[in-house]
Amino acid sequence: MSTATTARPRRRVRTDFEREQAARLAQVQEFADELSEAFLFCREMSHTWQPHTASRYPDGGFRRTLLCPRCTTQRVQSLDRFGMIVSSHYDYPDGYLSAGLGHLAGQDRGLLRLASMSRRFDIA
Ligand SMILES: [Zn+2]
Repeated sequence: MSTATTARPRRRVRTDFEREQAARLAQVQEFADELSEAFLFCREMSHTWQPHTASRYPDGGFRRTLLCPRCTTQRVQSLDRFGMIVSSHYDYPDGYLSAGLGHLAGQDRGLLRLASMSRRFDIA
């Protein structure tokens, strides 16, 4: 009689969390695949801001806009008379935002980097 046990192959069980993560990453991959190159590059490498407009408010403060020539996103800033930012927001072109995916971070951004590299380099 042998006491040796035979290792049974363990079946990998996915938790609900892992299933949700996999589904989300599939959605992010689909989103990345459908983005234009300009949108994908800006999402992955950040915008290439250029001065666009500047004007004065009656109270002495300023409104300025910065424009990303690559994707056409505008950054709109209200500055006080000392140049301190009072408020800021972005005006994105249609199709730039990830509808329904929320903020992209962590592994989401990793997928964007891979998608970005694959547009210019044969890295498969
Ligand atoms: Zn941009």
